Amino acid sequence: MEMSYCIWMRRVKMATTTTTTAAVFRPTAASSISPLFTPPPSSKPKPSLLSYIFHRRNSTSTPLQCSPSSISRTLNHRCSSSSGAEDGGIDPKDSQMIILKGMRYEELENWVISKGYRPAQALMLWKLLYGNNSNSIWAHSFDELEGLNKDLTTMLSKCAKLKAIKVKDIITASDGTRKILFTLDDGLVIETVIIPNGDRGRNTVCVSSQVGCAMNCQFCFTGRMGLRRNLTAAEIVEQAVFARRLFTSEVGAIRNVVFMGMGEPLQNIENVMKAADIMVDEQGLHFSPNKVTVSTSGLVPQMKRFLRESKCALAVSLNATTDEVRNWIMPINRKYNLSLLLETLREELRLKHKYKVLFEYVMLAGVNDSIDDAKRIVDLVEGIPCKINLITFNPHSGSQFRPTTDEKMVEFRNTLAEGGCRVFMRPSRGDDQMAACGQLGNPGEFQAPLLKVPPRFQPALEPSV
Ligand code: SF4
Repeated sequence: MEMSYCIWMRRVKMATTTTTTAAVFRPTAASSISPLFTPPPSSKPKPSLLSYIFHRRNSTSTPLQCSPSSISRTLNHRCSSSSGAEDGGIDPKDSQMIILKGMRYEELENWVISKGYRPAQALMLWKLLYGNNSNSIWAHSFDELEGLNKDLTTMLSKCAKLKAIKVKDIITASDGTRKILFTLDDGLVIETVIIPNGDRGRNTVCVSSQVGCAMNCQFCFTGRMGLRRNLTAAEIVEQAVFARRLFTSEVGAIRNVVFMGMGEPLQNIENVMKAADIMVDEQGLHFSPNKVTVSTSGLVPQMKRFLRESKCALAVSLNATTDEVRNWIMPINRKYNLSLLLETLREELRLKHKYKVLFEYVMLAGVNDSIDDAKRIVDLVEGIPCKINLITFNPHSGSQFRPTTDEKMVEFRNTLAEGGCRVFMRPSRGDDQMAACGQLGNPGEFQAPLLKVPPRFQPALEPSV
């Protein structure tokens, strides 16, 4: 990990000195996990330098404890009796526990059967975990496993964990949006947002898929954190479970999930697709696949795979109409440029029936909000079945952009609509508590750099930059 950290620093340095380099995001064939934090070749995990720095800086954080070995134990569904010594300080008893929410139903069923119990008991457990029962239990403790066979409950209390994350804090914004801070087993913190929309019955939970993010989109606070690590499937699923458990009685049914919190979901595609499968299971959380939306900044190979393998919806952060602007505000564009991204969507969506991609477009004053930009969008999305969401930019500490005025947004929207696009304006939600789009996370002192601004856009930015 230390070596990866150095690589990250070198790449960051290159990115600050040139606008043409493609070196910032250089995924290797072997690295579907992270182009920036390539795991070291050593099979024995060491605490990362980054986690060490984090620990020193923040007394509430603890050193990195969730090793690949503990995760693979979860994925392999064994109730291991290994020592757990390689987990770097994790409670050995805890590290041997199966994390139930990291399993698809078939995996949980196989594991329960392997312990000598019947498939019907596995189904009952599944329904208790995911609230698909008359009492909407969403069980988080063993005494909530009502009606389950006593021996099975005892076995579970010895071998399994019902919770993957812990609530640290809940913050309510003036518009009713809630931000939940969760502590992970290794002390890192993620954020999840509940966006109530009661009148229209469209309450939404916005889940995180990574701690931080490697993509360094210039308008996003999370991007300033860099990537700390991927979330496990259980840590992702648990955010939706907590959302329902904590807020259903208050705001009504939560039926939408958007993977638009911290992280680039498709950089963690295995765990994200697994979590999405668990969320849409009809005997469990039972979200409708078209109400589970996974967002991407434009990782083209993973996007292709997602479109072919997942039943869930896709959102693509477009945010610019030229490679010049997108290379700057979304450096992933240097690897997968606009024409490749859009051509891939055009091709892939031909294979799908009645499927629309959602384009997200954050409006940045003087950068991407001209009428020429709107006209270019009409041309760019031609032949792609889509909807377009225009999103108000949400400022954060250190941000250099300004939000587009409401009048200009309306004019922009009208131009798109006249060009035949299906377009919606999405006002900020939860921005007074840093719960809005692009405001999640806490970069602390160690921040990914701002990239060099193309000279012609400098007048549009805040004077401090
Ligand atoms: S916008 Fe999304 S992909 Fe870009 S830095 Fe933020 S969290 Fe990452």
